[in-house]
Amino acid sequence: MAAGGYFGRALVVDAGTGVSEELTLPDELLRAYIGGAGLGAWLMHRLGSPGVDPLAPAAPLAFVFSPLVGTPLTTSAKFAVVARSPLTGMLNDALSSSQFAIAGKLTGHDAIVVRGACAQPSVLLVDGDGARLTGAAELAGRTAAETEARLREKLGRNWRVAAIGPAGERGVRYATISHDGRHAGRGGLGAVMGAKRLKAIAVRAATKVAPAHPEEVLSAARDLRARSFGPATAKYRELGTLANLLAFNAISTLPTRNFQAATFPDAPRLAAEELGEMRRVARNSCASCTIGCEHIYSARGGGKVRVEYENVFALGPMCGVSDPDAVLAASGLCDELGLDTISAGGTIAWAMECAERGLIDAPWLRFGDAGALVRILTEIGTRTGLGDLLADGSRSAAERVGGGSSAFAPHVKGMEMPGYEPRTLHAMALGLAVNARGADHNRSGAYEADLSGDLARLDGGAAHVAAAIETEDRAAVMDSLILCKFLRGVFTEPFGEWAALLSAVTGWEVDGAELRQTARRIVLAKRVFNIRAGWRPADDWLPERLLSEPVQLGSGRVATLTPQRLRGMITAYYAARGLDEQGGPDPAGLADLQLM
Ligand code: SF4
Repeated sequence: MAAGGYFGRALVVDAGTGVSEELTLPDELLRAYIGGAGLGAWLMHRLGSPGVDPLAPAAPLAFVFSPLVGTPLTTSAKFAVVARSPLTGMLNDALSSSQFAIAGKLTGHDAIVVRGACAQPSVLLVDGDGARLTGAAELAGRTAAETEARLREKLGRNWRVAAIGPAGERGVRYATISHDGRHAGRGGLGAVMGAKRLKAIAVRAATKVAPAHPEEVLSAARDLRARSFGPATAKYRELGTLANLLAFNAISTLPTRNFQAATFPDAPRLAAEELGEMRRVARNSCASCTIGCEHIYSARGGGKVRVEYENVFALGPMCGVSDPDAVLAASGLCDELGLDTISAGGTIAWAMECAERGLIDAPWLRFGDAGALVRILTEIGTRTGLGDLLADGSRSAAERVGGGSSAFAPHVKGMEMPGYEPRTLHAMALGLAVNARGADHNRSGAYEADLSGDLARLDGGAAHVAAAIETEDRAAVMDSLILCKFLRGVFTEPFGEWAALLSAVTGWEVDGAELRQTARRIVLAKRVFNIRAGWRPADDWLPERLLSEPVQLGSGRVATLTPQRLRGMITAYYAARGLDEQGGPDPAGLADLQLM
């Protein structure tokens, strides 16, 4: 019998034949990888060959749950979608939330993995009767939200649906998978699903699973709920993540016009403080969440858009666009098409710079042009015109356009940069460079150390390396348990407190030291997958622009991040992680991974 909170098995479905089988997940393995992103990494090693093209039928796509899903612990209704990314070629996990996590787990599985490809556009149904495929011809071209609504209308309200939009169907390499308005956003896993001709996966709860110590879990849930109303989450409740915009602008870490500046003079027009007054119409939350960070804004024309710092940064300052209506419209369009806003904005910003330099023949595509932003998003989502080139992301497009444009393509490992300026945030610079997923602020939260005031953010060194490792480890555990990152500030002894939660649910006696080791294992498992998938030491690096061009602060001071400083931090990171000088693992680390 599996530990509390687990079923001890994954369902593996062949989308080509419709045949499914169960993969047993022993306790020892679950304890080593927990669930979510961690278990997903192990599943990719076990079921996928790192050399297989991410869009080939043989590439596995996993929906991975966790032991905490279905408990009353706040923010625990989350799932990870895991596959090799068509954008980066590296291991990719993207998290999403809400009822799909609960219903998917209560099909009786800790993960649902899809291999193969359907002959026709299809929907995968999974419930107590197992897995089966049904046709989806009538859903072609529909948005994820429309698809979800239609399927629940047809199948019944107790079905929960994760779907792709038009961009996923057309193989845009940063297409999303969506459920209930939330997105497994980064790394193009919507394209992986589209390549399997799966428009949606629908799940229905069929069973229950109990925690090992229900009273302890209930008590912890009450405590966590109370803490979730405190000051550590106030920002998310009151203004949402868009509160970052003015704060980041003030300290010159708001990437602007494709990282040509770190401040955006028109930032106040897009700020939560200003925009919220006029446009905020509702606040919402994922299932099982007491924080409620979702801030819904009305767009011109009556549509409603969920607004985050990252989508406003990417479609606003990064593209030089200051018209709030245009940014809201562009954000809504990304949701409809099924596009990751960060990669879309980063790739468009690169294209705008190319157009200005005459490297791309698109005189209409200019920084700050709101109409051009909406036009190019539509072209990307439908892979028409210039959009066909940009649908593969900035790295690929720069390789084809040439003319030195790779130097200012804003990506790491092919994934476009989030809204944090590495030249003014040196711990984050390291976190972005070495992260397995590429340029990503959710798998490395090193910016927290930069912003804490405890270390010099323009002067990276040993303390920045330690901070980057610590936040990477914390993210590995939170993404595997899974708990929302917006809850992180309520924990005073994170690893010990997370261990107590995991122990109450599973019945294992886990302590903080064990969870720290688990974190290191998960981080290493991702790195080893990437090495097997073709990672090279040069992939742990930042775009040339960030290492060769200084950036001016609002104060007039100039900030630089030299290649020597970044190399020094990477070398120290490898040493502290127990890696060799080239970033490879030692045999003891490999043996701990339980890969075969
Ligand atoms: S804090 Fe926000 S993202 Fe996190 S679980 Fe709650 S509503 Fe969802």
